[in-house]
Amino acid sequence: MTIAFPEPRPDVLAKRDEVIARLRQIVPGEGVISEENERRAFETDALTSYRRVPMVVVLPETTEQVAEILRFCHQEGVPVVARGAGTSLAGGAIPQEDAVVLGVAKMNQVLETNFADRTMRVQSGITNLAISGEVAHAGFFYAPDPSSQLACTIAGNVAMNSGGAHCLKYGVTANNILGLKLVTVEGEVVDIGGEALDSGGYDLIGLIVGSEGQLGVVTEVTVRILRSAEGARPVLFGFDEIGQAGRTVADIIGAGIIPVAIEYMDKQAIEICEAFAHAGYPLDVEAMLIIEVEGSDAEMDATLARIVTIAKTHDVKVIKESKSAMETAAIWKGRKSAFGATGRVADYICMDGTIPTGRLPEVLEGIDRIVKGYGLRVANVFHAGDGNLHPLVMFNVNDPEEQVKAEHAGEDILRLCVQVGGCLTGEHGVGIEKRDLMREQFNDTDLLQQTRIKSALDPKWILNPAKVFPLDAPREPLPGAPAEPPRQAA
Ligand SMILES: Cc1cc2nc3c(=O)[nH]c(=O)nc-3n(C[C@H](O)[C@H](O)[C@H](O)COP(=O)(O)OP(=O)(O)OC[C@H]3O[C@@H](n4cnc5c(N)ncnc54)[C@H](O)[C@@H]3O)c2cc1C
Repeated sequence: MTIAFPEPRPDVLAKRDEVIARLRQIVPGEGVISEENERRAFETDALTSYRRVPMVVVLPETTEQVAEILRFCHQEGVPVVARGAGTSLAGGAIPQEDAVVLGVAKMNQVLETNFADRTMRVQSGITNLAISGEVAHAGFFYAPDPSSQLACTIAGNVAMNSGGAHCLKYGVTANNILGLKLVTVEGEVVDIGGEALDSGGYDLIGLIVGSEGQLGVVTEVTVRILRSAEGARPVLFGFDEIGQAGRTVADIIGAGIIPVAIEYMDKQAIEICEAFAHAGYPLDVEAMLIIEVEGSDAEMDATLARIVTIAKTHDVKVIKESKSAMETAAIWKGRKSAFGATGRVADYICMDGTIPTGRLPEVLEGIDRIVKGYGLRVANVFHAGDGNLHPLVMFNVNDPEEQVKAEHAGEDILRLCVQVGGCLTGEHGVGIEKRDLMREQFNDTDLLQQTRIKSALDPKWILNPAKVFPLDAPREPLPGAPAEPPRQAA
């Protein structure tokens, strides 16, 4: 276990009864969870090797309740960890023991659908998949499609700037959000952006998307919905060498071809996912690409022909087109279940570095070298088209030494991503997992500029306070803020 959690503050814990009583006034009924066995359901997220039972959990149903909760916690200096579905792989939603977990899962309604403007306004606790489900009958969809889309909320997607297999063509969450309702830590309700493609003033949507629950709590989101394509066809390309697959991706992108998705799996991942999904993946190859094209049949044929020509120059061994909706569903089921399927064979940590696509071949070889150096196994499955890597480093959670080795291997992989010009996270966020690696990418001046933004919106640092920034990152108090904002020791 290499990540330090802050010690709970005794002054906050001492107020527990008072906090619970006030929260019950704000959210009557069953919206406040105080019993320990029930709070345990909120002790971790998808970074399951770390857990802390929160002081109390509150599940508001309206923006006004969220505002009251934040106003009270700000006044009392009580930490607040916002939570959607708790699927963060970076430990973004893991609470601390002196925190109120503010879950938005009950706020899950569609508020407005506007096909003429191609927008939908939803409460932030709605799941990603439910948004597309709401407009599918009219031939529309919401594009960013994290593999966790059945469970994860748009609130979590906004906070982590989530992506998915189809973001190569359509962009990630930041590219598909037009408006937000944000409650500030002082309990003010702010409307940012709106229904139009652009809005005046600073790009505050750009600031809030990806801010990991540290700048305010999002209660409503206006998303772009898009018209579904006439057709879509995934094709499997199998290679004898991982370098051939990497060079194929680089050449497709370099030729200006943008398929909807280019997903990569290595041999380990292919075997694990095929055993789970029976998708017809080739088992006699070292690497596989799932490349999906869309449009009319003629468009798909033309784009595929260009892709096949490129793949052949890299000695592609297997080319297998989906011939039916059932085959297409199985191909995507295999890919989207990759994390769950890997969980059937081993414990794993899922890394999330991003690199320039041209560096793929050498980085894949580097990952292999790093993981073997620790005596571990890795399954590589990732969004190759936009260079967003997800090496799944496998270990045994009952062997603490092996867990430390896996975490070190993961850190080395992320360092490699930064060294080749990439970054620490593509879509899962920094959370607690990569917090202490931030200095690999940012110097103190960079970090100070970022913590100034945090201090401006959250002067007491109570919103998800122990995440994203190393605990000793430079920060300075703003005029009017407490001389030394409360800082929690590791
Ligand atoms: C099997 C699996 C597959 C996954 N696949 C993908 C993938 O393909 N692409 C991808 O990008 N991610 C993926 N993820 C990661 C995860 O699903 C995303 O990060 C998702 O956006 C988290 O949403 P959530 O509702 O679970 O948020 P949570 O985990 O509850 O919270 C995530 C962050 O959002 C903050 N937050 C929550 N609600 C609010 C709010 N109302 N206001 C402000 N901040 C808030 C939290 O404080 C936390 O920092 C996957 C996870 C799993 C387990």
